[in-house]
Amino acid sequence: MEAFKILRKVCIIARILVLLIPDPLFAQSARYLPNADYNPLKVNVNLVILQRPDGSGNFQDNAADRTFLRNMIDVTNGVYAELTNRNEAYYPGQNLPFLSNAKVEFVPKILFVKDEKGWNNRNDHNFAGVPYLSGWYLDSLDRQIYGSDTLPKAINLYFTTDGQLYEEMVVKGTTTDYDHRVFFKQHAASEIPVVQPGSYLNGKYHSMRCHVANVWLKLWWKRNILHEPDWTMEYEVGESIAHELGHLMGLGHTPDAQKHALMRTKFGGLRDYLTTQEIATMHQLLGGYPSLWQCVQESATYGSPGADWVITGTEIWTEDRRIYANVILKAGASLTITGNILLPPKGFIQIEQGACLWIEERTVRRMNTPEPDAFEGFEKLVRKPQFLSPYLWVGDNWEYAGILHLKGNGKIDEAVIRVVRN
Ligand SMILES: [Zn+2]
Repeated sequence: MEAFKILRKVCIIARILVLLIPDPLFAQSARYLPNADYNPLKVNVNLVILQRPDGSGNFQDNAADRTFLRNMIDVTNGVYAELTNRNEAYYPGQNLPFLSNAKVEFVPKILFVKDEKGWNNRNDHNFAGVPYLSGWYLDSLDRQIYGSDTLPKAINLYFTTDGQLYEEMVVKGTTTDYDHRVFFKQHAASEIPVVQPGSYLNGKYHSMRCHVANVWLKLWWKRNILHEPDWTMEYEVGESIAHELGHLMGLGHTPDAQKHALMRTKFGGLRDYLTTQEIATMHQLLGGYPSLWQCVQESATYGSPGADWVITGTEIWTEDRRIYANVILKAGASLTITGNILLPPKGFIQIEQGACLWIEERTVRRMNTPEPDAFEGFEKLVRKPQFLSPYLWVGDNWEYAGILHLKGNGKIDEAVIRVVRN
């Protein structure tokens, strides 16, 4: 047991040192940058189609309309998967290598909802139809969908119709002037999340939502008045939704001078360019913002050894975090975790010989393992009077093991830990 004591001492010294070093996590953009061989993160989106009580006034549950909606989301996904290098980096000094694929994919589920008040976006009294996180006219429907036990968590896109213009243009045929008479011209997203150490302005978990007004009405106008093919609208809306989802993944607006930037404010341009820094921001948010990461499918993993977070020095993770890769602690590394960590279903933390992992008060587990309260057998074990986790009993010779410290109520799912002898 002599070797054990020495290792423990080394760990304590390392821990005193780490307190003096600021959290390096947010300075390391490279950790969030996808490579060509990563799996895209699959993000659920609900396309909530609000109809009148008789089912009219919006998209119908038929093959043609479902095809339109599917093609529309294909355009959105195409934007993120097939970016064009426009050399328009708008963050001086951050010209990271161009990435043509942002490695994010939206998986749609279409929900038809009959709701006379909700269907008609003239009932939305928010400026520009922006669905702020409280006080929006669809709050109660949103709570139902968000709180449903049968629906996976998803970003909710609400498709509504201008009831007055519908009546005039579609029912009575007294106008064909969509452009001047429509009330909400643009799609509106409510929120640009930021990772805020130590606090969540709107609560840790809340609905992510976007108001997508008048898509069907404009499509009706294009079909029946302009006689345009559906694909023009599929592109227009697919790109708008890509822009709005960009906001919900943490991206702000870029200057309109950047003609092809997805996040420019003005319409027009090809909207087919994201900077590498923007892609890093999205992935950072998808791992760091709970309301957003809950919309990422449970099985999500980058699935590439290049995605593993390899730690060689000293780090402290204070924030809750979902990671889509493994964590590898090399010899001499020390990682202190004081937030809750979620790993992919087969993900692990590898503690190599001479490395040290501290878990204080919080829980490290996989996405598909039970909540910590269900770690019963495990809890009993870690609460033995011994300081070290029993999971490091890889043999009697501590010389060959890394070290795991559980402090206070710190817990780790047994399956997550992998100890490697060099
Ligand atoms: Zn915008």
